[in-house]
Amino acid sequence: MPFSVEKIRADFPVLNQKVHGKPLVYLDNAATTQKPVQVINRLSDYYRNENSNVHRGVHLLSQKATEDYEQARTAIANYINAAESKEIIFTRGTTESVNLLATVLEEWVQPGDVILVSAMEHHSNLVPWQQLCRRRSAELKIIPVDSKGILDLEFLKKSLNPQVKLVAVNHISNVLGTINPVKEIVGLAHDAGVPVLIDGAQALAHTKVDVQEIGADFYAFSGHKVYAPMGIGVLYGRQTWMRRLPPYQYGGEMIDRVSFDEVTFNELPYKYEAGTPNVGGVLALETALQYVQKLGIEQIRKHEDLLLEKATNQLLQVEGMKIIGKAPDKTAVLSFLVDGVHPYDLGTLLDQMGVAVRTGYHCAEPLIKQMGLSGTVRASFALYNSEEEVDVFTDAVKKAVNMLR
Ligand code: PMP
Repeated sequence: MPFSVEKIRADFPVLNQKVHGKPLVYLDNAATTQKPVQVINRLSDYYRNENSNVHRGVHLLSQKATEDYEQARTAIANYINAAESKEIIFTRGTTESVNLLATVLEEWVQPGDVILVSAMEHHSNLVPWQQLCRRRSAELKIIPVDSKGILDLEFLKKSLNPQVKLVAVNHISNVLGTINPVKEIVGLAHDAGVPVLIDGAQALAHTKVDVQEIGADFYAFSGHKVYAPMGIGVLYGRQTWMRRLPPYQYGGEMIDRVSFDEVTFNELPYKYEAGTPNVGGVLALETALQYVQKLGIEQIRKHEDLLLEKATNQLLQVEGMKIIGKAPDKTAVLSFLVDGVHPYDLGTLLDQMGVAVRTGYHCAEPLIKQMGLSGTVRASFALYNSEEEVDVFTDAVKKAVNMLR
């Protein structure tokens, strides 16, 4: 299918509006992506025509909802090339996926053990491990990131030993745009017998994700960052792990047999899906991934890389411009600072000009502070952003900087 931004934009109703009297240029895609009509319609169709609880009813609607829900699980498993659909556990998003894992790995981590995370983690893949280490008297060790935004793999190699119980790193950094060499990281960790969680929150919209090729034991992502609704996400967990780990939440659906004194738990993946799931969200996530697949992730990546390169070159014309994150393998995220200009002031002026960016720590406060900064401005790109929008954005930055200086 030819990649036509104009045609793609027609699928995203929210983009067709003015803010502060200016056409909206939405460059906050790392925070959340907009939704195409196909996804909105799938969600709405479910509530209009199918709404029913899954796995419970003998009636037709419930059977249809159950069928569609399980079919979506299979499609999502295929999309990330999971070996089996039971390895797909539906959650509210990356944050819940990581918290689920940090809860069920409690006994796996003993006093004196080590968990390795990187310095470029989002709080969602840092604080759950920090708190688990605190509860278990274990040590949280931080894999450093250099000034370009590249992970120190030598440190990782040196730190791997039998006391390390988990390596948790992101696939793509939401601050730096760095694409981490996740396959290599998994290889190193597995050579030392250490399991790996990959936080894929930023990855699915920009790059191919093949969990078997990466080899990770666990892989987490959020639907809303890949054109699906908020409130739906996935924890991929290898069944060899998930079968032997304890449940996360207790209640309906996750049980097999219950008496007043005892319970046996359901099989995977239901053991980890207590209560009524977000059925509409799951169906819409399947539609969102179909949308991406139809356009082709390689084409999307090519387009976004072009936008990133163009925006970077144009921003570098601004005096005092500092790009934060210069890894050679980078995508879709452009963090920057301008000497003498506060990021918040710049973000506010950009908003006045119709350009939506994010400013601040981007939920990675330790990384930003370690770099000696108090925040950055972040523009992040998606498949529907155009080259014209990059021009509007960079012109707006130039104008705002002149006003603020
Ligand atoms: N990890 C990364 C790398 C992220 O960018 C985000 C969202 N900004 C998260 C985790 C958390 O995702 P969610 O809020 O959807 O749970």
